[in-house]
Amino acid sequence: MHITTAVAALCIGVLPKAAHATASGTCCSALAATTLKSQVVYPGSAAYKISLGSYWAENVQLEPTCILQPRTAQEVSLAVSTLVAADGGACKFAVRGGGHTTWAGASNIVDGVTIDLSLMNSTTYNEKAGTASILPGSRWGGVYETLAKYNVTVAGGRSGVVGVAGFLLGGGNTFHTSRVGFGCDNVVNYEVVLADGTIIEVNKDSHADLFKALKGASGNFGIVTKYDMKIIEGDKLWGGIVTYDNSTTLKHLEAGHKFINNIEKDPYASWIGMWEYLSVTDQNMVANALEYTTPVAYPAAFDSFTTIANTSSSMRVANLWNLTQELGQASGYRDIFVTGTFVNNLDVMKRTVDIHNRMIEEAKAGAKGDDYTMFTMIQPWPKLFTDHSVERGGNMLGLDRFDENLFQVLIDYSWKDEADDALFNQLANGALEELTTYSKSIGADNEFIYLNYANETQDPLSSYGPENVKYIQAVAKKYDQTGVFQTQVPGGFKISAVGK
Ligand SMILES: Cc1cc2nc3c(=O)[nH]c(=O)nc-3n(C[C@H](O)[C@H](O)[C@H](O)COP(=O)(O)OP(=O)(O)OC[C@H]3O[C@@H](n4cnc5c(N)ncnc54)[C@H](O)[C@@H]3O)c2cc1C
Repeated sequence: MHITTAVAALCIGVLPKAAHATASGTCCSALAATTLKSQVVYPGSAAYKISLGSYWAENVQLEPTCILQPRTAQEVSLAVSTLVAADGGACKFAVRGGGHTTWAGASNIVDGVTIDLSLMNSTTYNEKAGTASILPGSRWGGVYETLAKYNVTVAGGRSGVVGVAGFLLGGGNTFHTSRVGFGCDNVVNYEVVLADGTIIEVNKDSHADLFKALKGASGNFGIVTKYDMKIIEGDKLWGGIVTYDNSTTLKHLEAGHKFINNIEKDPYASWIGMWEYLSVTDQNMVANALEYTTPVAYPAAFDSFTTIANTSSSMRVANLWNLTQELGQASGYRDIFVTGTFVNNLDVMKRTVDIHNRMIEEAKAGAKGDDYTMFTMIQPWPKLFTDHSVERGGNMLGLDRFDENLFQVLIDYSWKDEADDALFNQLANGALEELTTYSKSIGADNEFIYLNYANETQDPLSSYGPENVKYIQAVAKKYDQTGVFQTQVPGGFKISAVGK
Protein backbone atom coordinates (compact mmCIF):
# COMPACT_ATOMS: atom_id res chain seq x y z
CA MET A 1 0.00 0.00 0.00
CA HIS A 2 1.36 3.44 -0.88
CA ILE A 3 0.60 6.25 1.52
CA THR A 4 0.18 9.58 -0.19
CA THR A 5 1.83 12.74 1.04
CA ALA A 6 -1.64 14.22 1.40
CA VAL A 7 -2.70 11.54 3.87
CA ALA A 8 0.53 11.97 5.80
CA ALA A 9 0.05 15.73 5.87
CA LEU A 10 -3.44 15.38 7.31
CA CYS A 11 -1.95 13.69 10.31
CA ILE A 12 0.76 16.17 11.27
CA GLY A 13 1.34 17.07 14.84
CA VAL A 14 -0.82 14.47 16.58
CA LEU A 15 1.84 13.91 19.23
CA PRO A 16 0.47 12.32 22.38
CA LYS A 17 2.01 13.63 25.60
CA ALA A 18 2.98 10.14 26.73
CA ALA A 19 5.36 9.79 23.78
CA HIS A 20 7.37 12.81 24.95
CA ALA A 21 7.84 11.22 28.34
CA THR A 22 9.90 8.32 27.01
CA ALA A 23 13.45 8.31 25.68
CA SER A 24 12.12 7.37 22.23
CA GLY A 25 9.69 10.30 22.54
CA THR A 26 12.78 12.52 22.74
CA CYS A 27 13.93 11.02 19.44
CA CYS A 28 10.58 11.75 17.79
CA SER A 29 10.70 15.30 19.17
CA ALA A 30 14.19 15.74 17.75
CA LEU A 31 12.88 14.78 14.29
CA ALA A 32 9.83 17.02 14.72
CA ALA A 33 12.13 19.94 15.57
CA THR A 34 13.61 19.79 12.04
CA THR A 35 12.13 20.39 8.61
CA LEU A 36 10.93 16.76 8.82
CA LYS A 37 8.14 17.78 11.20
CA SER A 38 5.35 17.22 8.69
CA GLN A 39 6.65 13.71 7.92
CA VAL A 40 6.54 12.44 11.52
CA VAL A 41 3.32 10.58 12.36
CA TYR A 42 2.14 9.33 15.74
CA PRO A 43 -0.17 6.69 17.22
CA GLY A 44 -3.78 7.73 16.78
CA SER A 45 -3.24 9.27 13.34
CA ALA A 46 -4.59 7.75 10.13
CA ALA A 47 -1.14 7.69 8.48
CA TYR A 48 0.32 5.76 11.43
CA LYS A 49 -2.50 3.24 11.27
CA ILE A 50 -2.17 2.78 7.52
CA SER A 51 1.58 2.32 7.78
CA LEU A 52 1.23 -0.33 10.48
CA GLY A 53 -1.58 -2.10 8.65
CA SER A 54 0.51 -2.34 5.48
CA TYR A 55 3.03 -4.78 6.96
CA TRP A 56 2.29 -8.08 5.24
CA ALA A 57 2.26 -10.23 8.39
CA GLU A 58 0.07 -9.24 11.31
CA ASN A 59 2.57 -10.48 13.90
CA VAL A 60 5.18 -7.89 12.82
CA GLN A 61 2.92 -4.86 13.25
CA LEU A 62 4.83 -3.49 16.25
CA GLU A 63 3.93 -0.01 17.44
CA PRO A 64 6.86 2.41 17.27
CA THR A 65 6.80 5.66 19.24
CA CYS A 66 6.52 7.49 15.93
CA ILE A 67 6.92 6.77 12.24
CA LEU A 68 8.96 8.97 9.92
CA GLN A 69 7.89 8.98 6.26
CA PRO A 70 10.63 10.71 4.28
CA ARG A 71 10.11 11.74 0.65
CA THR A 72 13.69 12.18 -0.54
CA ALA A 73 17.23 10.93 0.09
CA GLN A 74 17.97 14.33 1.64
CA GLU A 75 15.18 13.78 4.16
CA VAL A 76 16.51 10.31 4.94
CA SER A 77 19.93 11.86 5.46
CA LEU A 78 18.56 14.52 7.82
CA ALA A 79 16.66 11.83 9.73
CA VAL A 80 19.75 9.65 10.20
CA SER A 81 21.93 12.61 11.29
CA THR A 82 19.24 13.74 13.72
CA LEU A 83 18.69 10.30 15.23
CA VAL A 84 22.43 9.69 15.59
CA ALA A 85 22.94 13.02 17.36
CA ALA A 86 19.81 13.04 19.56
CA ASP A 87 19.74 11.77 23.14
CA GLY A 88 23.47 11.00 23.25
CA GLY A 89 23.15 8.30 20.57
CA ALA A 90 20.45 6.42 22.49
CA CYS A 91 17.78 6.67 19.78
CA LYS A 92 16.80 3.33 18.32
CA PHE A 93 15.28 3.16 14.87
CA ALA A 94 14.13 0.69 12.26
CA VAL A 95 14.25 0.85 8.47
CA ARG A 96 11.27 -0.39 6.51
CA GLY A 97 11.05 -1.04 2.76
CA GLY A 98 7.93 -3.04 1.87
CA GLY A 99 7.71 -4.62 5.34
CA HIS A 100 7.48 -8.24 4.14
CA THR A 101 9.82 -9.87 6.61
CA THR A 102 7.73 -12.27 8.66
CA TRP A 103 9.50 -11.90 12.00
CA ALA A 104 8.76 -9.01 14.32
CA GLY A 105 11.45 -6.36 14.70
CA ALA A 106 13.20 -6.86 11.35
CA SER A 107 11.73 -3.70 9.83
CA ASN A 108 9.82 -2.25 12.76
CA ILE A 109 10.48 -1.43 16.41
CA VAL A 110 8.85 -0.69 19.75
CA ASP A 111 10.25 2.20 21.80
CA GLY A 112 11.85 3.81 18.80
CA VAL A 113 11.32 5.38 15.41
CA THR A 114 10.45 3.48 12.25
CA ILE A 115 11.73 5.08 9.06
CA ASP A 116 9.02 3.99 6.63
CA LEU A 117 10.23 4.56 3.06
CA SER A 118 6.83 3.96 1.46
CA LEU A 119 6.43 7.51 0.13
CA MET A 120 9.59 7.01 -1.95
CA ASN A 121 7.99 4.67 -4.44
CA SER A 122 8.59 5.83 -8.02
CA THR A 123 10.17 3.94 -10.93
CA THR A 124 11.87 5.73 -13.81
CA TYR A 125 12.95 4.07 -17.04
CA ASN A 126 16.30 5.37 -18.35
CA GLU A 127 16.11 4.18 -21.94
CA LYS A 128 19.59 5.32 -23.00
CA ALA A 129 21.31 3.75 -20.01
CA GLY A 130 19.21 0.57 -20.21
CA THR A 131 18.34 0.88 -16.53
CA ALA A 132 15.39 1.55 -14.25
CA SER A 133 15.78 3.76 -11.18
CA ILE A 134 13.62 2.35 -8.42
CA LEU A 135 13.01 4.04 -5.09
CA PRO A 136 13.12 1.88 -1.95
CA GLY A 137 9.48 2.11 -0.88
CA SER A 138 8.33 0.55 -4.17
CA ARG A 139 6.54 -2.77 -4.48
CA TRP A 140 7.39 -4.99 -7.44
CA GLY A 141 3.87 -4.75 -8.88
CA GLY A 142 4.23 -0.98 -9.25
CA VAL A 143 7.69 -1.35 -10.81
CA TYR A 144 6.45 -3.85 -13.42
CA GLU A 145 3.37 -1.77 -14.19
CA THR A 146 5.49 1.30 -14.94
CA LEU A 147 8.05 -0.58 -17.04
CA ALA A 148 5.37 -2.49 -19.00
CA LYS A 149 4.59 0.74 -20.89
CA TYR A 150 8.04 0.44 -22.48
CA ASN A 151 7.90 -3.34 -22.98
CA VAL A 152 10.82 -3.83 -20.60
CA THR A 153 11.13 -5.28 -17.14
CA VAL A 154 13.64 -6.10 -14.38
CA ALA A 155 14.59 -9.22 -12.42
CA GLY A 156 12.42 -8.71 -9.33
CA GLY A 157 9.93 -10.38 -7.02
CA ARG A 158 7.51 -13.08 -8.13
CA SER A 159 4.69 -11.61 -6.09
CA GLY A 160 3.64 -8.06 -6.94
CA VAL A 161 3.02 -7.00 -3.35
CA VAL A 162 6.58 -7.66 -2.18
CA GLY A 163 8.88 -4.76 -1.32
CA VAL A 164 11.83 -3.92 -3.53
CA ALA A 165 14.28 -2.72 -0.88
CA GLY A 166 14.68 -5.75 1.40
CA PHE A 167 14.32 -8.17 -1.53
CA LEU A 168 17.32 -6.70 -3.39
CA LEU A 169 19.43 -6.40 -0.22
CA GLY A 170 18.92 -10.09 0.61
CA GLY A 171 19.55 -11.50 -2.90
CA GLY A 172 16.24 -11.79 -4.71
CA ASN A 173 15.07 -14.97 -6.44
CA THR A 174 13.17 -14.16 -9.63
CA PHE A 175 11.57 -15.83 -12.63
CA HIS A 176 14.64 -14.62 -14.58
CA THR A 177 17.37 -15.92 -12.25
CA SER A 178 18.37 -18.77 -14.60
CA ARG A 179 19.07 -16.16 -17.29
CA VAL A 180 20.47 -13.20 -15.38
CA GLY A 181 21.25 -14.21 -11.80
CA PHE A 182 19.57 -12.91 -8.64
CA GLY A 183 17.86 -9.53 -8.40
CA CYS A 184 20.91 -8.11 -6.60
CA ASP A 185 23.19 -9.19 -9.45
CA ASN A 186 21.26 -6.82 -11.71
CA VAL A 187 21.69 -3.69 -9.57
CA VAL A 188 24.28 -1.46 -11.26
CA ASN A 189 24.15 1.45 -8.84
CA TYR A 190 22.87 2.18 -5.34
CA GLU A 191 22.31 5.56 -3.74
CA VAL A 192 23.06 5.14 -0.04
CA VAL A 193 22.69 7.33 3.04
CA LEU A 194 25.50 6.49 5.46
CA ALA A 195 25.47 6.74 9.25
CA ASP A 196 27.07 10.21 9.14
CA GLY A 197 24.32 11.43 6.81
CA THR A 198 26.41 11.58 3.65
CA ILE A 199 24.71 10.44 0.45
CA ILE A 200 26.90 8.41 -1.89
CA GLU A 201 26.58 6.67 -5.24
CA VAL A 202 27.80 3.10 -5.04
CA ASN A 203 28.74 1.10 -8.13
CA LYS A 204 31.57 -1.00 -9.56
CA ASP A 205 33.76 2.10 -9.99
CA SER A 206 32.82 4.02 -6.87
CA HIS A 207 32.92 2.35 -3.44
CA ALA A 208 33.28 -1.05 -5.14
CA ASP A 209 33.65 -2.86 -1.79
CA LEU A 210 30.29 -1.54 -0.57
CA PHE A 211 28.76 -2.26 -3.99
CA LYS A 212 29.52 -5.95 -3.55
CA ALA A 213 28.56 -6.01 0.13
CA LEU A 214 25.10 -4.58 -0.59
CA LYS A 215 24.41 -7.62 -2.78
CA GLY A 216 23.10 -9.94 -0.11
CA ALA A 217 24.28 -8.56 3.24
CA SER A 218 21.06 -6.64 3.97
CA GLY A 219 20.82 -3.45 6.07
CA ASN A 220 24.27 -3.50 7.67
CA PHE A 221 25.78 -0.42 6.04
CA GLY A 222 23.31 2.43 5.58
CA ILE A 223 19.91 3.17 4.05
CA VAL A 224 19.56 2.59 0.32
CA THR A 225 17.51 5.39 -1.20
CA LYS A 226 17.67 4.32 -4.86
CA TYR A 227 18.40 1.19 -6.86
CA ASP A 228 19.41 1.40 -10.53
CA MET A 229 18.70 -1.93 -12.16
CA LYS A 230 19.64 -3.29 -15.56
CA ILE A 231 16.50 -3.77 -17.63
CA ILE A 232 15.41 -6.90 -19.48
CA GLU A 233 13.87 -6.43 -22.92
CA GLY A 234 10.30 -7.76 -23.21
CA ASP A 235 7.95 -8.20 -20.26
CA LYS A 236 5.72 -10.96 -21.65
CA LEU A 237 5.85 -14.49 -20.32
CA TRP A 238 3.93 -17.72 -20.66
CA GLY A 239 3.01 -18.62 -17.13
CA GLY A 240 0.49 -19.20 -14.41
CA ILE A 241 -0.51 -21.62 -11.68
CA VAL A 242 -1.48 -25.23 -12.28
CA THR A 243 -3.10 -27.27 -9.51
CA TYR A 244 -3.17 -31.03 -9.13
CA ASP A 245 -4.53 -33.71 -6.89
CA ASN A 246 -2.20 -34.55 -4.03
CA SER A 247 -1.88 -38.12 -5.31
CA THR A 248 0.39 -36.78 -8.09
CA THR A 249 3.09 -35.72 -5.60
CA LEU A 250 5.71 -38.28 -6.59
CA LYS A 251 5.39 -37.37 -10.28
CA HIS A 252 6.03 -33.71 -9.42
CA LEU A 253 9.02 -34.48 -7.28
CA GLU A 254 10.53 -36.63 -10.04
CA ALA A 255 9.78 -33.89 -12.58
CA GLY A 256 11.24 -31.20 -10.31
CA HIS A 257 14.38 -33.18 -9.60
CA LYS A 258 14.94 -33.66 -13.34
CA PHE A 259 14.06 -30.03 -14.10
CA ILE A 260 16.73 -28.73 -11.70
CA ASN A 261 19.42 -30.92 -13.22
CA ASN A 262 18.53 -29.78 -16.75
CA ILE A 263 17.88 -26.12 -16.12
CA GLU A 264 20.87 -24.88 -18.09
CA LYS A 265 19.39 -26.45 -21.25
CA ASP A 266 16.59 -23.90 -21.18
CA PRO A 267 17.15 -21.03 -18.73
CA TYR A 268 13.87 -19.36 -19.73
CA ALA A 269 12.00 -21.93 -17.65
CA SER A 270 11.21 -21.39 -13.97
CA TRP A 271 9.35 -23.66 -11.55
CA ILE A 272 8.06 -23.26 -7.99
CA GLY A 273 6.55 -26.45 -6.54
CA MET A 274 3.99 -25.78 -3.81
CA TRP A 275 2.42 -28.24 -1.41
CA GLU A 276 -0.47 -26.39 0.07
CA TYR A 277 -3.04 -27.10 2.77
CA LEU A 278 -6.01 -24.78 3.29
CA SER A 279 -7.86 -25.42 6.55
CA VAL A 280 -10.99 -23.53 5.49
CA THR A 281 -11.71 -26.02 2.69
CA ASP A 282 -9.69 -28.87 4.21
CA GLN A 283 -7.86 -29.11 0.87
CA ASN A 284 -4.36 -30.52 0.53
CA MET A 285 -3.03 -30.07 -2.97
CA VAL A 286 -0.05 -29.62 -5.22
CA ALA A 287 0.36 -26.42 -7.23
CA ASN A 288 3.07 -25.45 -9.67
CA ALA A 289 3.98 -21.91 -10.62
CA LEU A 290 5.39 -22.42 -14.10
CA GLU A 291 6.79 -19.35 -15.84
CA TYR A 292 8.56 -19.21 -19.17
CA THR A 293 10.23 -15.81 -19.48
CA THR A 294 9.38 -15.33 -23.14
CA PRO A 295 5.89 -15.71 -24.61
CA VAL A 296 6.14 -19.29 -25.92
CA ALA A 297 3.52 -21.82 -24.82
CA TYR A 298 4.30 -25.39 -23.73
CA PRO A 299 8.09 -25.33 -24.04
CA ALA A 300 9.72 -28.76 -23.85
CA ALA A 301 11.42 -27.77 -20.57
CA PHE A 302 8.04 -28.14 -18.81
CA ASP A 303 7.03 -31.44 -20.43
CA SER A 304 7.49 -33.49 -17.25
CA PHE A 305 5.02 -31.18 -15.45
CA THR A 306 2.54 -30.44 -18.23
CA THR A 307 1.93 -34.11 -18.95
CA ILE A 308 0.61 -34.67 -15.40
CA ALA A 309 -3.22 -34.44 -15.29
CA ASN A 310 -4.22 -31.22 -13.55
CA THR A 311 -7.35 -29.97 -11.78
CA SER A 312 -6.99 -26.32 -12.88
CA SER A 313 -4.63 -24.21 -14.93
CA SER A 314 -4.21 -20.48 -15.48
CA MET A 315 -1.33 -20.81 -17.95
CA ARG A 316 -1.44 -17.94 -20.43
CA VAL A 317 0.67 -15.32 -22.14
CA ALA A 318 0.69 -12.24 -19.92
CA ASN A 319 3.05 -9.59 -18.70
CA LEU A 320 5.07 -9.79 -15.52
CA TRP A 321 2.75 -7.38 -13.71
CA ASN A 322 -0.25 -9.61 -14.42
CA LEU A 323 1.49 -12.85 -13.45
CA THR A 324 2.87 -11.45 -10.20
CA GLN A 325 -0.62 -10.33 -9.13
CA GLU A 326 -1.65 -13.97 -9.24
CA LEU A 327 1.14 -15.13 -6.94
CA GLY A 328 0.27 -12.68 -4.17
CA GLN A 329 -0.39 -14.53 -0.94
CA ALA A 330 -3.05 -13.07 1.36
CA SER A 331 -1.91 -10.51 3.92
CA GLY A 332 -3.55 -10.00 7.30
CA TYR A 333 -2.43 -13.33 8.77
CA ARG A 334 0.19 -14.19 11.34
CA ASP A 335 3.08 -15.84 9.52
CA ILE A 336 6.31 -17.72 9.80
CA PHE A 337 8.90 -18.32 7.07
CA VAL A 338 11.72 -20.74 7.75
CA THR A 339 14.07 -22.13 5.13
CA GLY A 340 16.75 -24.68 4.32
CA THR A 341 18.86 -25.57 1.29
CA PHE A 342 19.60 -29.12 0.20
CA VAL A 343 21.41 -31.07 -2.47
CA ASN A 344 19.07 -31.89 -5.37
CA ASN A 345 18.25 -35.35 -4.07
CA LEU A 346 14.90 -37.06 -4.68
CA ASP A 347 14.84 -38.70 -1.25
CA VAL A 348 15.16 -35.32 0.48
CA MET A 349 12.35 -34.00 -1.70
CA LYS A 350 10.12 -36.94 -0.77
CA ARG A 351 10.93 -36.45 2.91
CA THR A 352 10.06 -32.74 2.58
CA VAL A 353 6.51 -33.60 1.51
CA ASP A 354 6.16 -36.45 4.06
CA ILE A 355 7.04 -34.02 6.86
CA HIS A 356 4.66 -31.42 5.40
CA ASN A 357 1.79 -33.92 5.49
CA ARG A 358 2.57 -34.92 9.05
CA MET A 359 2.67 -31.27 10.17
CA ILE A 360 -0.80 -30.79 8.68
CA GLU A 361 -2.11 -33.62 10.86
CA GLU A 362 -0.45 -32.07 13.92
CA ALA A 363 -1.99 -28.69 13.11
CA LYS A 364 -5.43 -30.26 12.70
CA ALA A 365 -5.06 -31.88 16.11
CA GLY A 366 -3.68 -28.82 17.92
CA ALA A 367 -4.88 -25.59 16.27
CA LYS A 368 -7.35 -23.48 18.22
CA GLY A 369 -8.33 -21.38 15.21
CA ASP A 370 -9.95 -22.77 12.08
CA ASP A 371 -8.36 -20.47 9.46
CA TYR A 372 -4.80 -21.37 8.54
CA THR A 373 -2.70 -22.21 5.50
CA MET A 374 0.38 -24.42 5.38
CA PHE A 375 2.68 -24.10 2.39
CA THR A 376 5.85 -26.05 1.76
CA MET A 377 7.59 -24.80 -1.35
CA ILE A 378 10.35 -26.46 -3.31
CA GLN A 379 12.43 -24.19 -5.51
CA PRO A 380 15.44 -24.85 -7.74
CA TRP A 381 18.74 -23.35 -6.57
CA PRO A 382 21.04 -24.68 -9.30
CA LYS A 383 24.68 -23.89 -9.90
CA LEU A 384 23.58 -21.93 -12.96
CA PHE A 385 22.21 -19.17 -10.68
CA THR A 386 25.64 -18.70 -9.13
CA ASP A 387 27.41 -18.79 -12.50
CA HIS A 388 25.39 -15.74 -13.54
CA SER A 389 26.19 -13.99 -10.24
CA VAL A 390 29.90 -14.57 -10.80
CA GLU A 391 29.67 -13.31 -14.42
CA ARG A 392 28.12 -10.10 -13.09
CA GLY A 393 30.84 -9.40 -10.55
CA GLY A 394 29.70 -11.55 -7.66
CA ASN A 395 27.62 -11.07 -4.55
CA MET A 396 27.82 -11.92 -0.85
CA LEU A 397 25.81 -15.15 -0.80
CA GLY A 398 28.89 -17.37 -1.05
CA LEU A 399 27.16 -19.90 -3.28
CA ASP A 400 30.26 -20.24 -5.48
CA ARG A 401 31.61 -22.55 -2.73
CA PHE A 402 29.18 -25.24 -3.88
CA ASP A 403 29.48 -27.33 -7.04
CA GLU A 404 26.18 -29.18 -6.88
CA ASN A 405 22.72 -28.26 -8.01
CA LEU A 406 20.69 -27.43 -4.92
CA PHE A 407 17.05 -26.93 -4.07
CA GLN A 408 15.48 -24.80 -1.46
CA VAL A 409 12.62 -25.45 0.91
CA LEU A 410 10.46 -22.62 2.20
CA ILE A 411 8.11 -23.57 5.02
CA ASP A 412 5.49 -20.84 5.08
CA TYR A 413 2.61 -21.15 7.56
CA SER A 414 -0.09 -18.47 8.04
CA TRP A 415 -2.83 -18.44 10.68
CA LYS A 416 -5.44 -16.05 12.05
CA ASP A 417 -5.58 -16.84 15.74
CA GLU A 418 -2.84 -15.42 17.95
CA ALA A 419 -3.44 -18.32 20.32
CA ASP A 420 -1.84 -20.55 17.67
CA ASP A 421 1.48 -18.63 17.53
CA ALA A 422 3.37 -21.19 19.58
CA LEU A 423 1.93 -24.15 17.69
CA PHE A 424 2.77 -22.95 14.17
CA ASN A 425 6.22 -21.68 15.19
CA GLN A 426 6.94 -25.06 16.75
CA LEU A 427 5.63 -26.98 13.74
CA ALA A 428 7.59 -24.90 11.19
CA ASN A 429 10.87 -24.97 13.11
CA GLY A 430 10.37 -28.65 13.93
CA ALA A 431 9.74 -29.51 10.27
CA LEU A 432 12.96 -27.83 9.18
CA GLU A 433 14.95 -29.44 11.97
CA GLU A 434 13.70 -32.88 11.04
CA LEU A 435 14.44 -32.35 7.35
CA THR A 436 17.93 -31.02 8.08
CA THR A 437 18.70 -34.00 10.31
CA TYR A 438 17.52 -36.39 7.61
CA SER A 439 19.49 -34.64 4.84
CA LYS A 440 22.63 -34.79 6.98
CA SER A 441 22.12 -38.50 7.60
CA ILE A 442 22.30 -39.17 3.84
CA GLY A 443 24.95 -36.54 3.04
CA ALA A 444 22.53 -34.31 1.12
CA ASP A 445 22.62 -31.27 3.41
CA ASN A 446 23.86 -27.80 2.50
CA GLU A 447 24.68 -24.99 4.92
CA PHE A 448 23.27 -22.08 2.90
CA ILE A 449 20.32 -20.22 4.43
CA TYR A 450 18.51 -17.77 2.19
CA LEU A 451 18.25 -14.50 4.15
CA ASN A 452 15.01 -13.33 2.55
CA TYR A 453 13.21 -16.47 3.74
CA ALA A 454 15.02 -16.90 7.06
CA ASN A 455 13.39 -16.84 10.46
CA GLU A 456 14.95 -14.88 13.32
CA THR A 457 16.07 -18.19 14.83
CA GLN A 458 18.37 -18.71 11.81
CA ASP A 459 21.75 -17.18 10.99
CA PRO A 460 21.86 -16.57 7.22
CA LEU A 461 24.90 -14.26 7.23
CA SER A 462 27.05 -17.03 8.79
CA SER A 463 25.92 -19.33 6.02
CA TYR A 464 27.68 -17.08 3.48
CA GLY A 465 30.97 -18.62 4.66
CA PRO A 466 33.80 -17.28 6.86
CA GLU A 467 35.50 -15.27 4.10
CA ASN A 468 32.35 -13.39 3.23
CA VAL A 469 31.53 -12.82 6.89
CA LYS A 470 34.95 -11.16 7.32
CA TYR A 471 34.37 -9.10 4.18
CA ILE A 472 30.98 -7.87 5.41
CA GLN A 473 32.42 -7.06 8.84
CA ALA A 474 35.24 -5.01 7.27
CA VAL A 475 32.92 -3.11 4.92
CA ALA A 476 30.43 -2.38 7.73
CA LYS A 477 33.25 -1.04 9.90
CA LYS A 478 34.65 1.11 7.06
CA TYR A 479 31.36 2.81 6.14
CA ASP A 480 29.78 2.92 9.60
CA GLN A 481 32.68 3.39 11.99
CA THR A 482 30.62 3.90 15.10
CA GLY A 483 28.32 0.95 14.36
CA VAL A 484 25.07 2.92 14.08
CA PHE A 485 23.49 0.22 11.90
CA GLN A 486 24.55 -2.46 14.39
CA THR A 487 23.37 -0.84 17.62
CA GLN A 488 20.97 2.02 16.95
CA VAL A 489 19.24 0.01 14.20
CA PRO A 490 18.84 -3.37 15.90
CA GLY A 491 16.39 -4.91 13.40
CA GLY A 492 17.22 -7.46 10.72
CA PHE A 493 20.20 -9.79 10.36
CA LYS A 494 23.22 -8.00 11.82
CA ILE A 495 26.80 -8.86 11.00
CA SER A 496 27.80 -8.00 14.59
CA ALA A 497 25.53 -10.83 15.78
CA VAL A 498 27.27 -13.50 13.70
CA GLY A 499 28.85 -16.15 15.87
CA LYS A 500 27.22 -14.85 19.05
C1 LIG B 1 4.25 -12.83 -0.29
C2 LIG B 1 5.76 -12.87 -0.36
C3 LIG B 1 6.37 -13.21 -1.56
C4 LIG B 1 7.77 -13.24 -1.66
N1 LIG B 1 8.35 -13.57 -2.85
C5 LIG B 1 9.71 -13.61 -2.95
C6 LIG B 1 10.35 -13.97 -4.17
O1 LIG B 1 9.72 -14.21 -5.19
N2 LIG B 1 11.70 -14.05 -4.19
C7 LIG B 1 12.46 -13.75 -3.09
O2 LIG B 1 13.68 -13.82 -3.19
N3 LIG B 1 11.88 -13.39 -1.93
C8 LIG B 1 10.54 -13.31 -1.83
N4 LIG B 1 9.96 -12.98 -0.63
C9 LIG B 1 10.81 -12.63 0.51
C10 LIG B 1 11.21 -11.15 0.42
O3 LIG B 1 12.30 -11.04 -0.46
C11 LIG B 1 11.61 -10.59 1.79
O4 LIG B 1 10.50 -10.61 2.64
C12 LIG B 1 12.15 -9.16 1.67
O5 LIG B 1 12.68 -8.75 2.91
C13 LIG B 1 11.09 -8.19 1.23
O6 LIG B 1 11.57 -6.89 1.15
P1 LIG B 1 10.82 -5.71 1.94
O7 LIG B 1 11.38 -4.42 1.50
O8 LIG B 1 9.36 -5.90 1.84
O9 LIG B 1 11.30 -6.08 3.41
P2 LIG B 1 11.41 -5.28 4.79
O10 LIG B 1 10.82 -6.19 5.82
O11 LIG B 1 10.87 -3.90 4.71
O12 LIG B 1 12.98 -5.20 4.97
C14 LIG B 1 13.80 -6.34 5.09
C15 LIG B 1 15.13 -5.94 5.79
O13 LIG B 1 15.83 -5.00 4.99
C16 LIG B 1 16.07 -3.76 5.70
N5 LIG B 1 15.80 -2.67 4.75
C17 LIG B 1 14.64 -2.45 4.09
N6 LIG B 1 14.78 -1.39 3.28
C18 LIG B 1 16.04 -0.94 3.42
C19 LIG B 1 16.77 0.12 2.81
N7 LIG B 1 16.22 0.91 1.91
N8 LIG B 1 18.06 0.30 3.18
C20 LIG B 1 18.64 -0.52 4.11
N9 LIG B 1 17.99 -1.53 4.71
C21 LIG B 1 16.71 -1.75 4.37
C22 LIG B 1 15.04 -3.76 6.82
O14 LIG B 1 15.48 -2.98 7.91
C23 LIG B 1 14.90 -5.25 7.15
O15 LIG B 1 15.87 -5.66 8.05
C24 LIG B 1 8.57 -12.92 -0.52
C25 LIG B 1 7.95 -12.58 0.68
C26 LIG B 1 6.57 -12.54 0.77
C27 LIG B 1 5.94 -12.18 2.07
